[in-house]
Amino acid sequence: MARFETEAIRQQMRRTPYREHASPLFLTSSFVFDNADQMAALFNGEAEGDIYSRYSNPNVNEFVDKVCAMEGAEDGFATASGMAAVWAGMAALLHAGDHVIASRAVFGSTHQILTQVLPRWGITHTYVDPTDVEGWEAHIRPETRMIVLETPSNPGLTLVDLEQAGALARKYQLVLLVDNCFATPYLQRPIDFGADLVMHSATKFMDGQGRVLGGVLVGRKELIEEVRFFCRHTGPALAPFNAWVLSKGLETLAVRMEQHCTNAHALAEWLEQHPSVARVAYPFLPSHSQYALAKKQMKRGGALVAFEIKGGLSVGKRFIDALQLCSRSSNLGDVRTIVTHPASTTHSKLSEKERLAVGITPGLIRISVGLEHIDDIQKDIEQALAQASG
Ligand SMILES: *Cc1c(COP(=O)(O)O)cnc(C)c1O
Repeated sequence: MARFETEAIRQQMRRTPYREHASPLFLTSSFVFDNADQMAALFNGEAEGDIYSRYSNPNVNEFVDKVCAMEGAEDGFATASGMAAVWAGMAALLHAGDHVIASRAVFGSTHQILTQVLPRWGITHTYVDPTDVEGWEAHIRPETRMIVLETPSNPGLTLVDLEQAGALARKYQLVLLVDNCFATPYLQRPIDFGADLVMHSATKFMDGQGRVLGGVLVGRKELIEEVRFFCRHTGPALAPFNAWVLSKGLETLAVRMEQHCTNAHALAEWLEQHPSVARVAYPFLPSHSQYALAKKQMKRGGALVAFEIKGGLSVGKRFIDALQLCSRSSNLGDVRTIVTHPASTTHSKLSEKERLAVGITPGLIRISVGLEHIDDIQKDIEQALAQASG
């Protein structure tokens, strides 16, 4: 296999039926068969090939193959959104009575699945401290089946030690599911540290330009077989057009992430010096309490910066309202810089206590740093800070 950047760009060139240079779009719901025997072989799994786009499609296959190459995964399945991938990973593998160990700092909708949906089928969970993997062992029960974690987390940018989590999963034969959305496989490969399944909201950096929703789950072959069975029959398939957009997005993932990281790192350093800012969270700042871990498991610090504005909720809201260039939106991973106030938006469904437990203070601001020129991003944030604090 070639290097990361090359696989992202060249992989589909290994199958070009029309000598096409860029991948065509296969807008077809189904595929035809040469004869009854071929049809039978495909249906009962004796032969490989596309049957129906709820099962697979050339554009979706290209996207999945690229993500598998990037993550170092054996197999994968793509879904209509990131949450469909989280749900598929849990619903395909968990049974009534099972127990899940979950890092407290997981995505808002993952939290809703764990607390509101899975309990209906008698599947319970225990939330654990993301920064203390050694302490997780005490919560493992005979019926524990899975560990779910996200690193760096949304929005507080807390890390989980992937090597420790991988070792714990091996020791107790648990399935380790990692949400790798914030880092992308360019910055971090959880499978190298022992993860069994890696999930992405492809909506974010994989698209990278805020156009489509998508998700993907990759990992160990025998687990993905179960996910594939579940998804083929429950129907969260990724649309061919979205897969085509996402495959194109992956071609530029490496260069985009490099620039995202350069901009985000510069902004984090600048914010840390600013008198209106109480605290900055960015994994590659030496002031981050998990700086050494970040250096160990991530290539660079990522595109997300979180900071605490002095003055709390009212000043935070004034800051958001004063932005002129940066977008007020809840998405992330776009070329455009996006600023979010988690306490009043993405995490408003959590109780105040739950928010504080994962570091979401009233004045916390999350920035998904885009690819505009850093001088312009900084200028906008500077004037908004001045207006909010003035
Ligand atoms: C956005 C996001 C998800 C959910 O993905 P969707 O594509 O919106 O369904 C899950 N985890 C993280 C960390 C995310 O940022």
